[in-house]
Parts: sequence; C-alpha cells; structure tokens
Amino acid sequence: MAKKKPFLNKKARAVIALLLVALLILALDYFMEEQPETAAPAEILSPLSSPSPSPEAVSAKEEYLDVYVLDVGQGDSIFIKGPSGATMLVDAGESGAFKIIDAFLQVQGVKKLDVVIGSHPHADHIGGMQKVVANYKIGAYYMPDAVNNTRMFENLLDELEKRKVPVKKAVGGKASYIKWDKNVEVRLLSPLADVKYNNLNDASVICNIRFGDTSVLLTGDAEAYAERAALMELPEAYFKATVLKVGHHGSSSSTSAAFLEAVSPEVAIISLGANNDYGHPHKEIISALKRAKIPYYRTDESGLVHIRLDGSSFTVETEK
Ligand SMILES: [Zn+2]
Repeated sequence: MAKKKPFLNKKARAVIALLLVALLILALDYFMEEQPETAAPAEILSPLSSPSPSPEAVSAKEEYLDVYVLDVGQGDSIFIKGPSGATMLVDAGESGAFKIIDAFLQVQGVKKLDVVIGSHPHADHIGGMQKVVANYKIGAYYMPDAVNNTRMFENLLDELEKRKVPVKKAVGGKASYIKWDKNVEVRLLSPLADVKYNNLNDASVICNIRFGDTSVLLTGDAEAYAERAALMELPEAYFKATVLKVGHHGSSSSTSAAFLEAVSPEVAIISLGANNDYGHPHKEIISALKRAKIPYYRTDESGLVHIRLDGSSFTVETEK
C-alpha cells in the first residue's frame, strides 16, 4: 500500500504560516488606526477655578459650592457652581452688564445655566437677562409672581417664550425647594403665597443655598417688610447662613436687626456701583455689620468677589 502523500510539503506549510502571521499583524494595525477619537476636549479653566484633580485624589473635601458675586456696577448678578458642576445665575444687572456676565461665563466654560433666577423685575436685576436667555441654554427660569410694566420685562418674557425656557414661579414656604445640584439644598424663603407685597423690591426671591454646614443667603432687594413676613412664617433656622448677600445694595430699608440676627452670617457681600445715585451702602448698614463684627466685601471696592464653601468652612478671593 502506497504511503499517502501529504497535501503540502513541510516547506510550503511554513510559508503559509508566515503569510498568515503577516496578515494578522496588518489587520491588527488597520483596526487600531480605525478606532474613533474618544478623548474629551480639553477643559477650559479660568484662573479662579482649580484644576481637575486626578480620580484617585478626589475626596469629599474637594467638593465646593462656588459663589461669584460679579462686579456689574449698581445692580446684582451672582453666578453659582455646585459641587456636582450644576450652574446657576441669579440676576443679570443692568442691560450693559450682559457683556461682563458673558465674558465671565465664557472664561468659566459655561454653556448651559441649569437654573436662572430673576429675583424681581427691576432694571438693575433683569437688565441683561434677555441677552442671557437669548445666548445661553437654560434649564429653568424662576421669578416671583410679580410683573413690571416695562418694555424690558416684556421683552424678557417674550424671549423666554421664544426659547421655550420652562418658567416657574418662585414661592417661599416650609418645604419649597428648587431642584439643582444633587448635593445642595436650595430653599425658597420669600416671597410667600399668602402675603401681599406693595412694592417690587419686597417681592424679591430670598433663597438659602446650603452645602453641608455652609450656605449662602441671597436676598435680591427684599426690604424689612418682606424680611419680617418671612421670619414670622418660617422657622428662624432656615435663615442661618455662612454668607449673606446684603439686601438691596446695602440700603437701610433692608437688613433689619432681626433679619441680620437670624442670618448671623460669617461674611457679608454688598453688590453695588461706586458713587451710585442712592448713597448705597447706607451708613446704618455698615455700622450694623461692624457692630456685629461681620466682615464684609463691596463689589465697588473689591470687584468680583468669589466665595468658596466646602461644607464646613469658606474662603474669599477678590479681584481687587
Ligand atoms: Zn436692585
């Protein structure tokens, strides 16, 4: 019986094996090159923000609630960033303030504002707001149930409608919150549903934004009447805060003694323009802060004021 001859001889099999290995290498190389780009674009960092820590360096201690009181002259505009990265803008100064706000948000790399609050419909708080709404994606817009018969306010409402921004009424109460950053409680204290406010300042949104044991109380231009109404209806503990944005640019019509005592802030910020027409801040308020040994910062003197809350303590950094 003749021995069966192998289909290929030894030499031919070796050549085929080599060819297969070469093909495999070429194929691997091809697929490696075809992989899509998955790297995220470089993060935009401002001189004020800290660089992102490496994953192993992240700890609870390195989460912050950052509050920036912008220098928009006579008016208010406050940007807040939560520990999970949520963004909030409260007020937008006079109409000329938009370019200041826009430049700031661009440096911060902000494209979307999760929550925007218009504290009350006066020009020094909503002046730049129409442009904010026109230029930024907004998650929800909060405002008091109060209207102002001005073209500025009507244009803002039109812009909100045009951009399909959900508009919500801000109403204070025992269990009234704004849903924002998952680690932060945003509690609404004023205006109250059952109180009649006779001026737009008193209709201002007052809210306490709390992260751990630290918080910032924002007041718009609420005056003593609204402060008293809120203190009568809600537990005093709701008002306690680390940082107080002093009401109504330091006017003596706001920040009553009872209110200041309830808040008992460790630091106060006054947002105002130099040499303004109202004589803000009024000397009574400066005296009250000094008497209570509460350090304070003024945007007309310090420029942008950045307060960083870490849940147990705070730091302040100023532009000037
Ligand atoms: Zn104002």
